[in-house]
Amino acid sequence: MLNIILFGPPGSGKGTQANNLVDHYDLLHISTGDLFRYEMGNNTPLGLEARSYISKGDLVPDEVTIGMLKNKVNSNPDVKGYIFDGFPRTIAQAESLDEFLTEKDSAITVLTSLEVHDDEIVKRILNRGITSGRADDNDETIIRHRIANYNKETAQVFDYYAKTDKSIKVTGIGSIEEIFDRLKSAIDEAK
Ligand code: AMP
Repeated sequence: MLNIILFGPPGSGKGTQANNLVDHYDLLHISTGDLFRYEMGNNTPLGLEARSYISKGDLVPDEVTIGMLKNKVNSNPDVKGYIFDGFPRTIAQAESLDEFLTEKDSAITVLTSLEVHDDEIVKRILNRGITSGRADDNDETIIRHRIANYNKETAQVFDYYAKTDKSIKVTGIGSIEEIFDRLKSAIDEAK
């Protein structure tokens, strides 16, 4: 199995690149942000709980997020691998994911981290907010809070996978094609 963690701050282009990678490697794309937005759109109990965190730019609690992720993986077992986008965002999530994959005789192949500086991210997210309809994309204070969470909590996940030499930094500035080529080279080298 080819299991990729597409890592990087909010607005670094993970969603766009995930779509390219899914087509190229024939993998299942799992975005916890998209899964939460689906639940919120349907006003499910999970969606209502998630909304209270997401609207403030906070992380949804680990148990909720991990449970949702496992359900999605378990309901799609016959695939060549997964692209995890926006997950794991905490060390606890990374540890759970590793245990979960080990139980399935599988493992993370590589973590690719899209590197984009904060001011560029804020600009991109505000721009995306014009059309995304996402409340968390429209307010600079909330966006900066999401970036702060990334730096405080999520960035450690890079170091966690670096311990087993699985973390690779990829410059997230340039055209979509250029960034896609860099990601493919990183992934092909790690396979
Ligand atoms: P995203 O679309 O990945 O930027 O996620 C949007 C929001 O969903 C985040 O700001 C968090 O509030 C929540 N979220 C998404 N993935 C996770 C995760 N792995 N852990 C906790 N919260 C998450």
